[in-house]
Amino acid sequence: MRLILLGAPGAGKGTVAKMLTELDGSVQISTGDILRGAVKAGSDLGKKAKGYMDAGDLVPDELILDIMATRLQEPDAAKGFLLDGFPRTIPQAEALTEMLNKLSIKLDAVVNIDVPRDVILDRLTTRRTCSNSACQEIYNVKTKPPKVEGVCDKCGSPVIQRDDETKEAISKRLDTYNEKTAPLAGYYEKTGQLLTVSSTSSDEVVAAIRERVGA
Ligand code: AMP
Repeated sequence: MRLILLGAPGAGKGTVAKMLTELDGSVQISTGDILRGAVKAGSDLGKKAKGYMDAGDLVPDELILDIMATRLQEPDAAKGFLLDGFPRTIPQAEALTEMLNKLSIKLDAVVNIDVPRDVILDRLTTRRTCSNSACQEIYNVKTKPPKVEGVCDKCGSPVIQRDDETKEAISKRLDTYNEKTAPLAGYYEKTGQLLTVSSTSSDEVVAAIRERVGA
């Protein structure tokens, strides 16, 4: 399937994307994961992106669009893709529409995962992430701790709190989301592609998506 997953940081986009990949082999494309990998590798992209990310700001559109223009054409995306964290601004959405038209790719839906702010804040402050950029499994100290404290169940790498998951950066990321990304719901509402799911349960979100796209 070909989906865009919209929703605030901590709404569950990554969890839902991972669950959907298991259904039909669609690939999860997370711009946040790609950028964190680049920061860890110390690449040019990583050096340019790190300051914005740590502050909870968005990385400039040009950098993201370059990444996505290439990523969408990689062979694994041919089976389907779940866009997690992209687009995040109206110019990114417009550029994506153009990219998809050029590639003659049609989206199945744009899913807006709607979760109350207090739940988001609680999730983000208790979230932990595998530090291995090829893994990036997500844990939660309250609801899904790793079996061995601080160690990833999947790959054995250290599980850490992300640099942008301090209280200040979280609050900045949520403000950035409300200002720049929330308007995308209106953009996709107009195209008739929007499916809004108000639920804190990833199972329910996945069920609503399956019903919509017939998977
Ligand atoms: P995420 O893991 O999706 O919350 O992304 C972490 C950080 O990466 C964001 O706070 C931004 O700094 C940056 N980022 C990820 N995706 C994008 C995007 N589509 N546009 C701009 N910045 C992004």
